Amino acid sequence: MTRNSRTVSCPRCAKPVRWGPESPFRPFCSERCKMIDLGAWASEEYRVAVEDKDEDPDAGSVEPERDAP
Ligand SMILES: [Zn+2]
Repeated sequence: MTRNSRTVSCPRCAKPVRWGPESPFRPFCSERCKMIDLGAWASEEYRVAVEDKDEDPDAGSVEPERDAP
């Protein structure tokens, strides 16, 4: 077995990427795809965090007490 080259698919654009020193951004095909993927991840995290903060289920369930006449 002398073949040592392996190919993976870029997670961003599904382009074949050779798994080796010639592909420094593996498993991404390029630095651009790597940055896009990291950016998407960060924005997704931010979106989830904001959504979680905005949701407050206890706020509407507590009714103010009224004084009996
Ligand atoms: Zn790519």
